[in-house]
Amino acid sequence: MGQRPFCKRNKMIEVKNLIKNYGPVKAVQAINFSISDGEIVGFLGANGAGKSTTLKILSGYLTQTSGQIKINNLDIIKDSHEIKKMIGYLPESNPLYNDMVVYDLLEFTANIRNITGEKFKQALHTVVEQCGLKGVLHKNVGACSKGYKQRIGLACAMIHNPKILILDEPVTGLDPNQIVEIRELIKNLGKEKLVLMSSHILQEIEATVDRIIIIDNGQIVADGSTKKLIKKHKGNIQLSLEIKGATKEKIKKLEDQIENIKINKINKSQFGHHVEIEYLEKNDPREEIFKIITKSKWILLEMNPKSDNLEDIFRKLTGKNIKA
Ligand code: ATP
Repeated sequence: MGQRPFCKRNKMIEVKNLIKNYGPVKAVQAINFSISDGEIVGFLGANGAGKSTTLKILSGYLTQTSGQIKINNLDIIKDSHEIKKMIGYLPESNPLYNDMVVYDLLEFTANIRNITGEKFKQALHTVVEQCGLKGVLHKNVGACSKGYKQRIGLACAMIHNPKILILDEPVTGLDPNQIVEIRELIKNLGKEKLVLMSSHILQEIEATVDRIIIIDNGQIVADGSTKKLIKKHKGNIQLSLEIKGATKEKIKKLEDQIENIKINKINKSQFGHHVEIEYLEKNDPREEIFKIITKSKWILLEMNPKSDNLEDIFRKLTGKNIKA
């Protein structure tokens, strides 16, 4: 996704040298970032990277060991009361009262925030519309599907119309249809609010957010739009070939015939050989390879270049697979 147009780009979240230790565990190690109004930002990291800890601190559920956090220019510790009015937080586990009717749960959540009477009716109308809860409003929470429970969790997080939504793994455990629904919902909410969401699911992050922050071992290792991150961190291009009618030895000679390529693999395949060649983007060897193959009267069955995607970059930066 590209950056969406947005008129006001006020810095809403500013994090400076944030450190959080749990006893000897250094969960977050001096991270810095800021997020402006109107951004949808994805917080990406493997298990234990420090995502939930950071989100809990930003939501006011945990205090930092040290460092400064400003939300809309207010200090997260000194002005915690004011800040809580600006933030809607959906925790990873989405804790809901299963025995309550959805309407009652929303009323209860609103009342805790001092939203009653006419104000509650208006707030209810808004979140029911935004989160698509009409059909389940009078059902027990426990009788709703996981996708609806996630919508209910979101509605509870938004009942006070916060400027900032912090969502910890909002799509984990949902089926593919529910993921698409929640993604659309989050994208729509992002038109009006700053959204900071964490996820393990790379495709999800890629499809939903404008900007990605990758955290590893409590440190930020990358921050930028998907496109920029791929451009900055991508390595060589891997070319995959399927060649018929050649011997392994002859294929190996391509390395001597063409400058700046490296053959990483030549394996026997069903029709001939599967070959993997690595090269720098600026030294594209495909034309030369094609000419040599035709001159040698071999048959080229397949030629596919593949450059790093976000998953490869994530692995490079963190040394881990995303679904760790
Ligand atoms: P996950 O995707 O698994 O939720 P995460 O990126 O959200 O991981 P955190 O939950 O923030 O990571 O954990 C960061 C580190 O802090 C981990 O090493 C974790 O074991 C540790 N940790 C988290 N909460 C506590 C706690 N209450 N007490 C002690 N250590 C904790």
